[in-house]
Amino acid sequence: MIHQPIILEVAKDTYMINLMGLQAPSLIVGRDRALLLDTGLGNFDMMEIVRRITDKPVMLVLTHAHSDHMGGIGQFQEIHIHPADLPAAQAFDADRLIHEDDRLPTQKEFVAQAAAAFRARPENIFDIPETVMEDRFSERRFIPLQPDQIIDLGGRQVQILEERGHTAGEIAVLDFQSRILFAGDGISPMFSITEADITTARNDLLHIRSHASEFDRIYHGHFGGTDPATLCSAPVSMLDDILQILNDALDGTDPGQPAGSETLRTRSYGSVQLYWHPSKQSQ
Ligand SMILES: [Zn+2]
Repeated sequence: MIHQPIILEVAKDTYMINLMGLQAPSLIVGRDRALLLDTGLGNFDMMEIVRRITDKPVMLVLTHAHSDHMGGIGQFQEIHIHPADLPAAQAFDADRLIHEDDRLPTQKEFVAQAAAAFRARPENIFDIPETVMEDRFSERRFIPLQPDQIIDLGGRQVQILEERGHTAGEIAVLDFQSRILFAGDGISPMFSITEADITTARNDLLHIRSHASEFDRIYHGHFGGTDPATLCSAPVSMLDDILQILNDALDGTDPGQPAGSETLRTRSYGSVQLYWHPSKQSQ
C-alpha cells in the first residue's frame, strides 16, 4: 500500500500531483510564486504537499467548480476561478454539499463514498484517506479570472483559456515554458458537455486550437481508471477528436447515440468518448 500522494516532475519546475489515483492537480513554479491548479476532493492537505516542492507563495486556480477539483478550498484564503463558475464555488463553500449530484450528499459523505469505491478496486495500491481535511481558513475571497488572462509567476507566464461546456466556466491553463496545456476535465478521454451549448464549447476549443503551436502535450485532471498509478499526457490530436464530434453534431453529420436520459447523447470517436446535451442553449 502507498500511503502518500506521489509527486511527478513532468517538466522543469512543473509538477503533477498523483492524489492516489484520484485527481491530478498540477503545480507550476515561477521565480516569484507558484500556481496550484485544483485541490482534489478535500481529503489531502494540499499546502503540505505543495511545501514539499516549493516554499514560494502559492496562487490557487480552479479549472472548474466540481467538488472533486475544489474540495480542498477550505485550506486556502484566495481562490481564482472563472466568473461563470463562481456561484457554484460559493454555494459549495457555504454548505459543503455536492450540488452537481442530484442526491446532494454532503462533502464528507461524498469523499467517504469515493475513497471506499477506489479502495475496493482490485488494482488499487493506495491507502486513500476517507475523511475531509479541516478548514485552515474560515473565510475565502474568490477572485474572477479573465478570458485569455496572462498570469506572471516571475520569469514564467501562463495563460487562462476558456473551456466552457463541462461546467459553465471551465478554464484551461497554457504554460508557455513547459509547452503543456493543463485542461482540467474539458479535454479528457471521457467527459460531458452539459453546462454550455455545444456551439460555445466548440468555439472555445477552436480558440484553444489556435494556440496549438504553443503546446505539445495536454494533461487532464484525473488519473487513469483501470490503472490508478498511471498518468499519461494526451496528444494535441485529442482536441481534434473532440472538435470532430462537436462539428458533426452541429452540422447533423453524426448526432450521436442516446445516452440514458432523453436529452443526453454520446459518441466515441478517436481517443474520446463525449456526452452532451444537444438542446442546451447559451445563457
Ligand atoms: Zn468535472
